[in-house]
Amino acid sequence: MKKHNFSAGPCILPQEVLQQASEAVLNFNNDDLSLIEISHRSKPFVAVMEKARNLVLELLNLENKGYQVLFLQGGASMQFLMTAYNLLDKKAAYLNTGTWASNAIKEAKMFGEVVEVASSKDQNFNYIPKNYSIPSDADYFHSTSNNTIFGTQLKEFPEFEGVNVCDMSSDIFSRMLDFSKFDLIYAGAQKNMGPAGATLVVIKEDILGKVEREIPSILNYQTHIGKESMFNTPPVFAVYVSMLTLEWLKNLGGIPFIEKVNEKKAALLYAEIDRNPLFKGIVAKEDRSTMNATFALVDENMTSVFDGLWKSAGINGLNGHRSVGGYRASMYNALPLYSVQVLVDVMQELERNV
Ligand code: PMP
Repeated sequence: MKKHNFSAGPCILPQEVLQQASEAVLNFNNDDLSLIEISHRSKPFVAVMEKARNLVLELLNLENKGYQVLFLQGGASMQFLMTAYNLLDKKAAYLNTGTWASNAIKEAKMFGEVVEVASSKDQNFNYIPKNYSIPSDADYFHSTSNNTIFGTQLKEFPEFEGVNVCDMSSDIFSRMLDFSKFDLIYAGAQKNMGPAGATLVVIKEDILGKVEREIPSILNYQTHIGKESMFNTPPVFAVYVSMLTLEWLKNLGGIPFIEKVNEKKAALLYAEIDRNPLFKGIVAKEDRSTMNATFALVDENMTSVFDGLWKSAGINGLNGHRSVGGYRASMYNALPLYSVQVLVDVMQELERNV
């Protein structure tokens, strides 16, 4: 029996994807060669890259709207730098909702003026700031759709007429949004898409070419667009597994289908957090993430008993991030509803034991 994997990332992937991926490592495409020992320019791999790119556009409803899909390396952290390098001419606006947003701000400051339009740092990022204004002359507005560490999620995005950039690392492909409102979306693969090593960038080509500075080739989006993500050797395994996961999602019914499942999982767990007198939620209710639920024991003396219970129920990866404490249940697309039920049962068992 596999464990109930609530890990925050890298995280659970569909079992059938892991099966297909392991077969491809031994013999890909029935060519008697491994996926990871063939050229990235070989026909079978070029077809993988193309399929992955098309699936991204199809699932996000962005076909024929001027978007390019890139699979890069360096993680979402590299995108903190690349977005600013390519787009920040004079001034950029950032919403500070957590550790990752703060890291993005830090990188952007190297390239120009950064206006922090609002921040929830005053309360250890346990809510999403609202009612702020974005300077109309900002080159772009940057937000983080889901704050993996703190467990908050933007339910609504501010209207900004200019260029909208969003770090969707931990909730891309989990809920329907009007993705065409964003000009640049980026996400590390290692949550809802695939293994660590690939970073997805979906970019509207017409926002590029507007800064004066010279951009090193490998950090320039135009280089990667021109070379169809093959400027240098792409992370072939990570791209392949991402393609399989996107195909899995499409066959299930795409984002509208998985969104309903994700809402059910989150509703089940948050209802128990609110009902069970031994537990409390950590963030503002209206900003709760459907992907990462953070919660804590009311009485920390119960920690070792609770930890023993969930570990013996086969649950993995429930400890909260060190900067928040408590627990974090990450419920990415591939986590079945049943795993959340097992966690809820354990929380009720603890209640019965006191
Ligand atoms: N942004 C968010 C929202 C994240 O959750 C993470 C990683 N957990 C990052 C950025 C950084 O991603 P990476 O480790 O791929 O650089």
